[in-house]
Amino acid sequence: MSAIARPLVKAYIALGANLGDPVAYLCKAMDDLAGLPGVSLINRSSLYRTAPLESSGPDYVNAVVEITTYLTAPDLLAQLQRLEQGAGRQRAYRNAPRTLDLDILIFGEARIDSKALTVPHPRMTERAFVLVPLAEIAPHAVTSAQRMAVQSQAILPL
Ligand code: ATP
Ligand code: CA
Ligand code: CA
Repeated sequence: MSAIARPLVKAYIALGANLGDPVAYLCKAMDDLAGLPGVSLINRSSLYRTAPLESSGPDYVNAVVEITTYLTAPDLLAQLQRLEQGAGRQRAYRNAPRTLDLDILIFGEARIDSKALTVPHPRMTERAFVLVPLAEIAPHAVTSAQRMAVQSQAILPL
């Protein structure tokens, strides 16, 4: 067995859902994340309600969690996609309503631009449903200018 240790990385993950019972899907996803081998759940934001943005269907429930992990970013993405599948996620079309969406926002200091994974998430700064819960648990990660730029997007504590 290799004695080379992987680094422990702090990462932030966005959670969103607007089909079925979104609160139940998000709470289960947080518990499932906490139970993943090589992942520790460090902090979770409040749950927020937001109107669909470039999407449709019922309002969304959104949150952000902080984890530390020994997984690589691609391995973490694979685990997130497994959890999405477990929640019955369908990808009917781009931005379709969904039972569970798990996006890697930030993965340590990593800059990744591969076919399957872009980190930091390229659209995170356009979205109040990401910036508001992220700022709640990681105020240093969101500038006031970024927060101001999305202030027209309604977001309410659940
Ligand atoms: P958006 O990325 O704009 O939030 P979405 O979450 O609805 O849209 P999905 O259908 O969930 O998009 O994912 C499409 C693909 O995005 C995934 O198959 C995955 O490979 C890729 N992807 C790229 N970067 C990331 C990331 N940082 N986190 C999660 N998935 C990512
Ligand atoms: Ca997304
Ligand atoms: Ca996604």
